[in-house]
Amino acid sequence: MKKIALAVHGGAGTILKSRMTMELENEYRSGLRAALEAGWTILQRGGMSLDATEAAVVELENNPLFNAGRGAVFTHDGRNEMDASIMDGATRNAGAVAFVRNVKNPIKLARLVMEQTEHILLAGAGANEFAREMNVESATDEYFFTDFRYQQLLEARRQHKIQLDHTADEPELIEESESPKTKSQIPNPKSQIGTVGAVACDVRGNLAAATSTGGMTNKKYGRVGDTPLVGAGTYADNNTCAVSCTGHGEFFMLAVAAYDVAARMKYKNSGLIEAALETVDYLRDIGGEGGLIAVDARGNVALPFNSEGMYRGFVNSDGEIIVEIYR
Ligand code: ASP
Repeated sequence: MKKIALAVHGGAGTILKSRMTMELENEYRSGLRAALEAGWTILQRGGMSLDATEAAVVELENNPLFNAGRGAVFTHDGRNEMDASIMDGATRNAGAVAFVRNVKNPIKLARLVMEQTEHILLAGAGANEFAREMNVESATDEYFFTDFRYQQLLEARRQHKIQLDHTADEPELIEESESPKTKSQIPNPKSQIGTVGAVACDVRGNLAAATSTGGMTNKKYGRVGDTPLVGAGTYADNNTCAVSCTGHGEFFMLAVAAYDVAARMKYKNSGLIEAALETVDYLRDIGGEGGLIAVDARGNVALPFNSEGMYRGFVNSDGEIIVEIYR
């Protein structure tokens, strides 16, 4: 029996403690914890790493704090277009969707692409048609409407910027409020971080990785980032590792970042932690802010990033959940 392992992320970027209220920090922490619990329960019962990563990502997609599923950012036209991918390290099969709309959990659709079609990546209207055929749960535009995300779009439009969710310009204070939290009190859009992911190793030593995102605020022309691209945002191979990335997608695509970790292990014989660190250092060198989570078949976990922070968590060898945000 192999050592089981699980890690999740909720995005990397400029996350400063000075901008966070205690209440909000606790909400992020409990969101990550809930995702780890969902995945860990499956792994502990001897379940598959694929199921564990999917369950962890669904939990994060349902949480409006994170830029995926319900909390997805807005495109230039005020829509939510989401990307997701999942990869099975045992079969090295993968499934992905790009700019899907009104799908409650894009990661479930990505898995169906992997299991029910002969394709890897379905995009746009076709992906939505596939979602209807598969009867996956849909959600209304209102479900995805988050006021602070909309404000983020208006600001990005005003500045004629395609705003990376994790790019902070000026520090802004988050106001504390006595009133019950509304979606608009979810944090300063500029410090809000996006994309969620999970990686796991199950009792059979099978690895899996899953990643889901709303992409970039104010994105146009059907922009797709690294998240749905196998090898860039997500990768899994039992012989090396499972990886889920978050950060400035264009650079992760240029670096073929997720596969880069696996390639360093495969061709250089690097260990997981060394390989993951080298990839993140390389990303920094080419200007790519962000981070990644990775596991290998021995249950080792790596969570490196080159940004101010990364919402992240893993379950340690004693079965204890560790959640971290800052450097
Ligand atoms: N990598 C994602 C993208 O570029 C964004 C993120 O990780 O926050 O679409």
